[in-house]
Amino acid sequence: MSINVPRGTKDILPEEMFKWHALEELVRDTCRLYQYKEIRTPIFEHTELFTRGVGDTTDIVQKEMYTFTDRGDRSLTLRPEGTASVVRSYVENKLFGLPNQPIKLYYMGPMFRYERQQAGRYRQFVQFGIEAIGSKDPAIDAEVMALAMKVYEKAGLKKVKLVINSLGDTESRQAHRDALIAHFEPHIQEFCSDCQNRLEKNPLRILDCKRDRENPLMNTAPKLPDYLNEESAGYFEKVKHYLEVLKIGYEVDPNLVRGLDYYNHTAFEIMSEGEGFGAITTLAGGGRYNGLVEDLGGPEAPGIGFAMSMERLFLALEAEGKSFDNQESLDMYIVSMGDSAKDKALSFVSELREHNMSVEMDFLDRKVKSQMKSADRLQAKYVVVIGDTELETGKVALKNLSTGAQKEMTFEEIVENVEQLKLSWQEELA
Ligand code: ATP
Ligand code: MG
Repeated sequence: MSINVPRGTKDILPEEMFKWHALEELVRDTCRLYQYKEIRTPIFEHTELFTRGVGDTTDIVQKEMYTFTDRGDRSLTLRPEGTASVVRSYVENKLFGLPNQPIKLYYMGPMFRYERQQAGRYRQFVQFGIEAIGSKDPAIDAEVMALAMKVYEKAGLKKVKLVINSLGDTESRQAHRDALIAHFEPHIQEFCSDCQNRLEKNPLRILDCKRDRENPLMNTAPKLPDYLNEESAGYFEKVKHYLEVLKIGYEVDPNLVRGLDYYNHTAFEIMSEGEGFGAITTLAGGGRYNGLVEDLGGPEAPGIGFAMSMERLFLALEAEGKSFDNQESLDMYIVSMGDSAKDKALSFVSELREHNMSVEMDFLDRKVKSQMKSADRLQAKYVVVIGDTELETGKVALKNLSTGAQKEMTFEEIVENVEQLKLSWQEELA
């Protein structure tokens, strides 16, 4: 009996790895420009970190966590998201004490959620996210959104929109919360059991319910922007102002609330409008979480961040008919005939690799013809054939596979001209 991957997970095979490498490089490069530094935290944490940090009324904590007891009787959880871990590490390692503030961090790695599998929704997926901790300047809210948009832009996506809202501060949220309870309470029997539970605990989350989305009371519910106090409204205006300064288009959606409990003030999502992207249109989500650092035992340190999954970015690219170029091609394939030629091929391959060329040869004792086929399939830029004649004369015909052009060269000449060969290959193509 064969064993398959667990539901909701998948292998990433070598043939599609180039797009992961390309995206990872794009992400790292963008973070370097914006001065966000990478942080790597463990893949599992104490369960309590997420119940406290993400919030125990959220879908993530109530239904989606991979929680287990280890052999030492500790309750541990595979991380479902990145912010709680980053904030834990920020507090534990006292990053608030470092001279350069705010602390700007990014992470990239697998997250785990027990979800119903569908396109764009997996049980293990890779998130890239950033966190800026230690500043409540609305300009950094704009920078965080700009960075997310930049990643999609560089990846080649065109049909992307930024949707923002303000959840306000504690006072504004309290006023809105009271209004929500008054609005939903008389009709709460029409709603799902989750919403009934949410009514007292966290009525805001009713607006985020996926089952009761179509209920008419959703549209007539009290809107957050109407409950913002002066300070919160002023903050939101500044965030919008800085987005305009950065020339980033956005839409305000007064019903946008985020799945996680810890958000306040700025909340945003980035959506794909690519046709064929399917029902799940959210590419990224983020927001401000003033208070979370204190909740996790740190000093007062306001933060903001976002997370996106790489998988949904790839889906959106597909929906727009785009893809990354495969840059990971082969520089040269060495074909050989006979035992002495094989010795020479082996040492020549190794020498070229010393000079930074990616080189391949035959390891199946195949005929010249099928070695040539391999070179083609691997899209080698150059191919050389080594046989008895070449061994005697010390010269080979260097063939550019894309143009068909050939040139006689000695082995030494090839090695000496490695850099130039790489360049002229591209020139000949152009
Ligand atoms: P959704 O409403 O789609 O469930 P969410 O609110 O749970 O999203 P977040 O926790 O904010 O999502 O995660 C941020 C991003 O991570 C999402 O916008 C999406 O790109 C991605 N993401 C979330 N869950 C999954 C998943 N199960 N598989 C793939 N990507 C995911
Ligand atoms: Mg979710």
